[in-house]
Amino acid sequence: MNWPWCCSAGSTISPGNFFDIEAITKAAHNAGAYAGFDLAHAAGNVMLQLHDLDVDFATWCSYKYMNSGPGGISGIFVHEKHFENKALNRFAGWWGYRQDKRFLMAPGFQPDEGAAGWQVSTSPVMLLTLHKAALDIFEEAGGLAPLRAKGDLLTGFLEFVINEINSTKDEELFKIITPKSKAERGSQLSIVCKRNAKQTFNYLTENGVIGDWREPNVIRLSPVPLYNTFEQVFEVGRMLAASVDEN
Ligand SMILES: *Cc1c(COP(=O)(O)O)cnc(C)c1O
Repeated sequence: MNWPWCCSAGSTISPGNFFDIEAITKAAHNAGAYAGFDLAHAAGNVMLQLHDLDVDFATWCSYKYMNSGPGGISGIFVHEKHFENKALNRFAGWWGYRQDKRFLMAPGFQPDEGAAGWQVSTSPVMLLTLHKAALDIFEEAGGLAPLRAKGDLLTGFLEFVINEINSTKDEELFKIITPKSKAERGSQLSIVCKRNAKQTFNYLTENGVIGDWREPNVIRLSPVPLYNTFEQVFEVGRMLAASVDEN
């Protein structure tokens, strides 16, 4: 079996909280600051309303939940209200220069209108092709809303299965540190393994379950609604239980 569970390369133990973007944005604005978000673990995972929530900017990679492959193209969001603000600091590249004057090669930088003005360099066509193929599959699946709905059930089932193991072992061997509320999480559960954590992680890997390891004892698992099944989640539970008995 080879199950490509979504994994990621964040830096901390990261319990997988889906933070309250609206509240953070409001707090930033009240303090006179811009609100920008790193959405590496959110893009393609949870529903985002960046424009409506008045987020100033955001960035994300597309190789985690968006399946574009390692080294795939990244994305940025800049709120429409900043489009005409030419004084804003930006990573100005020649491809973002207004198109009608781009090749006049005049000194200074005059950004193009809207999103076009944030382009940096010529687009990497091969990476865009991979990204488009991935996004087409999302569209075929009906977009993120039905996927998130299935994802909530799938992750909820993983939570249930893990708690079942804890109750049959009469000990909280696997402590889930991700919030219980589906409003505060996406697909990922971060699980503290009380016993033989690394062996358990390796056991999962050897059996084709690709999760993610965080020192000293956290396993992060993300059943992905696009391609993981409830049966696979059940099997993961069996593996976790077996690993506790074996190790
Ligand atoms: C994966 C990830 C990124 C993306 O970094 P890349 O340079 O695109 O690999 C950024 N932030 C966080 C928190 C991540 O987990």
